[in-house]
Amino acid sequence: MENISENDVISNKGFGIYIHIPFCKQACHYCDFHFSTSLKKKGELIAALCQELILRKDEVQGIVETIYFGGGTPSLLSSEELEQIFETISKNYEVSESPEITLEANPDDMLSVHAQSRTIFENYKTLGISRLSIGIQSFFEEDLKLMNRAHNATEALDCIKEAQKYFENISIDLIYGIPGMSNERWIENLNIALNLNVPHLSCYALTVEPRTALKKFIDKGIVPAVDEEVAKQHYEILVDETEKAGFDNYEFSNFGREGFHSKNNTAYWEGKPYLGIGPSAHSYNGKSRSWNVANNTKYIKSIAEEILPSEMENLSKEDRYNEYIMTGLRTKKGVSLPKVESEYGKEFAEYLLKQAEDHLHNQLLILENQSLKVSRKGKFLSDGIASDLFWI
Ligand code: SF4
Repeated sequence: MENISENDVISNKGFGIYIHIPFCKQACHYCDFHFSTSLKKKGELIAALCQELILRKDEVQGIVETIYFGGGTPSLLSSEELEQIFETISKNYEVSESPEITLEANPDDMLSVHAQSRTIFENYKTLGISRLSIGIQSFFEEDLKLMNRAHNATEALDCIKEAQKYFENISIDLIYGIPGMSNERWIENLNIALNLNVPHLSCYALTVEPRTALKKFIDKGIVPAVDEEVAKQHYEILVDETEKAGFDNYEFSNFGREGFHSKNNTAYWEGKPYLGIGPSAHSYNGKSRSWNVANNTKYIKSIAEEILPSEMENLSKEDRYNEYIMTGLRTKKGVSLPKVESEYGKEFAEYLLKQAEDHLHNQLLILENQSLKVSRKGKFLSDGIASDLFWI
């Protein structure tokens, strides 16, 4: 690991900015992202985010095509705080004419602010936010309680209906494989989303991360263990139901109607550069990755001293090939053999085909238009298949 040098300049034409908002109202039991439930330093942290944007403006040459507010919980920011960030970006970066600007929002925030001012969604529109990603996770009280989400089932529905009055481009997150979630309840969750006419779904299997409350509860027998077989069944249901409804499963966990695929995530899967701002945020410039310290106090202090609180790792050709295999196999486009040959060399393309032989024979992989793609049969196994194709 090394410190970022001034020479590590992102020089592609278009790039994305990711801004990490490290605050949450309460800790969801399954979550291992970086966040604090104390909002005391929110003002200081926003000022530090703006300062980091300024400090790193010369790291980038090109046009900002996407801006993504992730977290944590970006919907905890006031309109004034968001405005402060947008002003800093527009003063210091060249932004495309119609960038995709996504903000992750939690239902309880959207409704509580709405009740006070009745204008949160309008404010978001005025600020230029073009896409909302709403953390619904489930429409059922039992699931929301088990995961310790801050909203209830009624708020989940109300928030989507309210958001739809102002936004067309809405994505919702749903979680499957939750202990106690039957196939019927998962189908019902999907039906509710589909009947609401939400144009994009991001659906994730519940994973049990170390050092989370969920892990402790499972270890103590308070919550039943997550059943992989059930998660697999839920994934099969998800693929079937969304396909019937005309959604495109363009990445393992992402399902969108035409015109509603996430530009931010697609750029990430295609290996385009992005600048990650805020504590714990990661950046990628095509050659190296860097990541900021996952600690709000250390982050604020370091930025105040004009020192980037980051570490960097140069990626070897083998690392980049492995990353491309991992992300490429999760996408509908698959892994392009001509791209492997042109970017990594003939030796890598030949190695890839050789490693893929058994999976092609077993029909877990298919070769189509010179690209390797996972078949329907291989979809749920794509991470394991990818590791067989890695350069070790
Ligand atoms: S709201 Fe999101 S980031 Fe915050 S604890 Fe819950 S899952 Fe984690």
